[in-house]
Amino acid sequence: DAKRHGKNCYRLYAPDMNQRAVERLSMQNNLRLALERKEFVLHYQPQLDVHTNHIIGMEALIRWQHPALGMVSPAQFIPLAEEMGLIVAIGEWVLETACTQNRQWQEQGLPEVSMGVNLSALQFKNSNLHEIVKNVLDQSRLDAGLLDLEITEQIAMDGESSIEILQSIKELGVSISIDDFGTGYSSFKYLKEFPIKTIKIDRSFIKNIHQNEKNRGIVTAIIAMAYTLGLQVLAEGVELAEELDILKEVGCDFYQGYYFSKPLPCEEIQRLLNPPCESTNF
Ligand code: C2E
Ligand code: MG
Ligand code: MG
Ligand code: MG
Repeated sequence: DAKRHGKNCYRLYAPDMNQRAVERLSMQNNLRLALERKEFVLHYQPQLDVHTNHIIGMEALIRWQHPALGMVSPAQFIPLAEEMGLIVAIGEWVLETACTQNRQWQEQGLPEVSMGVNLSALQFKNSNLHEIVKNVLDQSRLDAGLLDLEITEQIAMDGESSIEILQSIKELGVSISIDDFGTGYSSFKYLKEFPIKTIKIDRSFIKNIHQNEKNRGIVTAIIAMAYTLGLQVLAEGVELAEELDILKEVGCDFYQGYYFSKPLPCEEIQRLLNPPCESTNF
């Protein structure tokens, strides 16, 4: 049979190439085209003051809507984009889009919120981050004070050059948060030396904090340390009223999580920020 097809018979991939490698390759090809095909979109998750329950910020979270694959989770494609070096271009798009969006909300007269943007380690190494942030702020005309860059402990550990880059970015008026705090190569050195404003406690420590003594102990200790260092604390992944009650008790400043809202597309955030009409007595 194979003989009958002769030389016109070819296969899409070599038989010894396993399924996973093929999927990976196709994912890489798709990812390479995603930016120009405009398949990325940002969702925004509200961040609130624990004590007043006012919305104080948003975190921009990227979504990839692939026409065939559907919604691909960032947990899946961000590591791939990092391996491919594509994260630098994607990260720049995220920064531009998030800052422009925040400026637009302001122009619509919506309450002022800060905008959190996640940075990958590669954006420190393979790009002039200071220049990029400066240009994005200029072009979007967003107040630097309304941009918050989220870095991980990994970036903080990546040597002496990051501290200088962060310092130069801070001088633009932008604030810096440590994301997923407690899960990485935690070091007290960078808490002391890096220009950080906010510690974002990883959601694994917030989960069931009303029942889990260890989590409560860890979070209480982080907050005490943050207080003496003059840092703010945000709890990630709050899902339950009971968890929020404990966070109030232990003096946590801010929170985000499904309890208040999942990350939402910009139209829904607009609705959320739009204050209800106040009844006036005419
Ligand atoms: P992250 O920066 O720690 O973002 C928080 C993640 O927790 C988001 O997942 C968010 O949807 C999820 N989350 C928020 N509240 C809750 C909750 O109450 N319960 C649970 N179970 N989850 C909650 P998402 O959007 O899937 O993003 C995953 C990670 O992908 C992010 O973690 C971040 O590290 C990375 N990421 C997302 N967008 C970007 C981006 O634009 N650039 C870079 N470099 N990384 C990004
Ligand atoms: Mg984050
Ligand atoms: Mg996080
Ligand atoms: Mg993360």
